[in-house]
Amino acid sequence: MTTKKKNSNYKLQFDNRFTRLLPGESEQLNQPRQVFQACYSRVKPLQPSQPALIIYASEVAELLNFPTDFCTSQTFEDIFSGKLLLPEMDPHASCYGGHQFGHWAGQLGDGRAINLGELLNDSHEHWMLQLKGAGPTPYSRSGDGLAVLRSSIREFLCSEAMFHLGIPTTRALSLVLSGNKVMRDMFYDGHKKLESGAVVCRAARSFIRFGSFQIFTARQEIKTVQQLLDHSIRHDFPHLGEPDKSCYLNWFRAVTLSTIHMVVEWMRVGFVHGVMNTDNMSVLGLTIDYGPYGWLEGYDPDWTPNTTDREMHRYSFGNQGDVAGWNLARLAEAIVPIIGEAEPLQALLNEYAIHYKSAWQNMMANKLGLVSFTEPDDSQLVDALEKILTLSEIDMSIFYRKLANIDATIDPEQCSDSQLIAPLMDAYYTPATLTEPTKIATANWLRRYIHRLQQDGLDNIKRKTTMNRHNPKYVLRNYLCQIAIDQAEAGDYSEIHRLHQLLKKPYDEQVDYESYASKRPEWARERAGCSMLSCSS
Ligand code: AMP
Ligand code: MG
Repeated sequence: MTTKKKNSNYKLQFDNRFTRLLPGESEQLNQPRQVFQACYSRVKPLQPSQPALIIYASEVAELLNFPTDFCTSQTFEDIFSGKLLLPEMDPHASCYGGHQFGHWAGQLGDGRAINLGELLNDSHEHWMLQLKGAGPTPYSRSGDGLAVLRSSIREFLCSEAMFHLGIPTTRALSLVLSGNKVMRDMFYDGHKKLESGAVVCRAARSFIRFGSFQIFTARQEIKTVQQLLDHSIRHDFPHLGEPDKSCYLNWFRAVTLSTIHMVVEWMRVGFVHGVMNTDNMSVLGLTIDYGPYGWLEGYDPDWTPNTTDREMHRYSFGNQGDVAGWNLARLAEAIVPIIGEAEPLQALLNEYAIHYKSAWQNMMANKLGLVSFTEPDDSQLVDALEKILTLSEIDMSIFYRKLANIDATIDPEQCSDSQLIAPLMDAYYTPATLTEPTKIATANWLRRYIHRLQQDGLDNIKRKTTMNRHNPKYVLRNYLCQIAIDQAEAGDYSEIHRLHQLLKKPYDEQVDYESYASKRPEWARERAGCSMLSCSS
């Protein structure tokens, strides 16, 4: 028997700058349509039939200064399922466009996200609270505006896992079952199924995307581009000063640098976003829209989890840096009319590759425990490492944790190949099948690496501590998340709670959770949801 939760009279404070200061549409018939000269449309969430809170993130609640008894109240469940609107809110869906898989797709917009408003916390920070899966909006096109449980679990767990890894991301406050059933064809192959609907409340300082600018430029609504850009600068980049031409260029530079930081951080932990369309790129450099993402298990730069991208591999792990640069070029095009000329933006874009390379090299130095990255030797060392990582299937996360155990005080020339490779054997998926040439190449690389470490002269413990701070032991492995989903679909939410908890300390050794750092089991290799995901969610 479930006991009825208590209502709460905790007062939430909102200051809805986005809807107050930018042009929008007032509520009309909630039907799919093209929305012109408006950054948003006012729309109300769908009534959930039987909301039931599965989990909330206490760290996000703290960020918003929500007291615990509010988070465990009936009122919380009602608000964050879309059942209860407060008079201080101003619910709306925002308008944006985007390039999808390299092609201009026109108007997209929040098709299944409804922003409740900007919550003001005790530090006077504005946090936009957004319900994902709370019903249709004018931007839903042919979609139903809903989200299923499996994709909502993936969004909730990954947002928070990324945050605790130290990677910029939108946050997830809560995951609530709506009680509604949702029809989905998971692989678009004619196998429709009714699934449980769910709503995730996301929080971010802003959800403005590259595509938020693109849509207005594409429609020649230049005044709206300017309003949105000025708004972004005034509220999210106030340190850049009052908007003018040089400020706009500084804004673009800031977006470039934060995007580079985000993508390099993905590369550090083996995260593949899966759908880096320009509508899924935040101008704050936050990881946003957790759809068919995945985590590298066997190291493979060409890997993409997204079945829609199986042919092109446009959004594969190794392409993410280039794609981010391409997306920034589309953002630059969108603001050319505001700057009045393309050249200064082109000059900033030309620096992208240099900044990306330098950020990537710093990241690799940290992963390898080097004091700093020195050209050209370390480039050669890393190129050689890339090669040996693809010789036989090797687990990326385990490899770097094991590499931290290498003893740099030995004379590697005195060690046999087998002795040198021994500490890494657990990282291989099929150690018994390692060929002689693979063993020789790997041992030779380790010899080079040890000599390189000896140049720095750090002691083993110090180096291991640094490396383990950059190489997570626990990531949201695709199969771990799928196990939590399978159990949740059968009504057991304990694994969601366990993963959420465990992933708060991804760099620590957690003895009780050793198995959560293990390689992907064979059953998960080709299992839907583990290695193959679609945009259907
Ligand atoms: P995505 O690439 O998944 O971020 O989605 C691209 C566009 O499709 C966005 O405008 C989404 O809001 C919209 N969309 C995705 N799923 C749905 C859905 N179930 N109902 C309505 N719109 C959706
Ligand atoms: Mg999206």
